[in-house]
Amino acid sequence: MTRAYNFSAGPATLPEAVLRQAQADMLEWNGIGASIVEISHRSADFIAVAAQAEADLRKLLWIPDDYAVLFLSGGATTLQALLPLNLATAGQTVDYVVSGHWGKTAIKQARPYVKVQVAADGEPGGFHDIPARESWQLSDDAAYVHITANETIHGLEYRYTPDVGTVPLVADFSSSIASEPLDVSRYGVIYAGAQKNLGPVGISVAIVRRDLLERSGQPRADIFDFRSHAARDSMLNTPPTWNWYMLGLTVKWMLDEGGVEEFARRNAAKSALVYQAIDGSGGFYRNDIAHAVRSRMNIPFFLPDEDLTARFVSESKQAGLLALKGHKAVGGIRASLYNALPVAGAQALADFMRDFQQRNG
Ligand SMILES: *Cc1c(COP(=O)(O)O)cnc(C)c1O
Repeated sequence: MTRAYNFSAGPATLPEAVLRQAQADMLEWNGIGASIVEISHRSADFIAVAAQAEADLRKLLWIPDDYAVLFLSGGATTLQALLPLNLATAGQTVDYVVSGHWGKTAIKQARPYVKVQVAADGEPGGFHDIPARESWQLSDDAAYVHITANETIHGLEYRYTPDVGTVPLVADFSSSIASEPLDVSRYGVIYAGAQKNLGPVGISVAIVRRDLLERSGQPRADIFDFRSHAARDSMLNTPPTWNWYMLGLTVKWMLDEGGVEEFARRNAAKSALVYQAIDGSGGFYRNDIAHAVRSRMNIPFFLPDEDLTARFVSESKQAGLLALKGHKAVGGIRASLYNALPVAGAQALADFMRDFQQRNG
């Protein structure tokens, strides 16, 4: 059996070494006579796995000590609802910058709890560019400013950290965390679902500056409270132990491969291969995103018509290139090039694109 190159946007490809390790550990782990999913989350064995995953993630992302790292069940969308509950008082103003689909989702999740001010909106421009920092209308009294670091569907990402003064910057890094070095200290909260760059779906990570845990927020159950999770090492209830273990293996793999600097290098190389195939196609392939904010992680592109698009999807699959069909909100093709996708995968896609154009252009 050969594993194909998998361009899925999420859940997404995982490192083969991680899958092999998980396979080997599945029946019996570390001499304990059971698999890691069959033991108590309160056992010393699991607590060691969880603590190692946190230590490795801190090392990978250079997370300073004054940030708590929470491992939570529920996806990034759940965290989007927890943000206003934890960081803002009822009805308080919060600023959101919208640069694509996930920025809109973040607003939808926050709206029941706070007064959402859209500080800038890329939608009138078709989400082809991130609104320039100079154009943002920030409120004086916002509890936080929210951005989406990488828009997974529309294919744009910030190539800089915006300065928002003393108001905490909250960023959804679901689809680009660990893709390059990141100055955590510039953010109040960084959050991400695991299923793009960190492991399998079912666990999310929130990196929260500790002073923000002191905010009173809004009336909420304990289980929705960041501070309670932090105080109990994310074991307020049964955490998703298998996912946590898998996240740990994935983070360790990234460290072993050379860390975020190495992935920044690979991701630049991979995305350059695909963008070159698009830009060098004389208009056969089209990507409409402003070059300065083109995503390295998710590359949407279009062919001249629907027939060719459908043929591209089916022929690429036959060629061992999986999940290239675009998101329905955008159409066309989308190639996701997460950390676990090797450079050879992007090369195979670029080669296929040139060959397909030659046969159909
Ligand atoms: C995938 C994704 C989400 C949603 O994650 P869920 O786990 O489905 O809630 C949110 N934001 C971004 C940027 C994403 O890529």
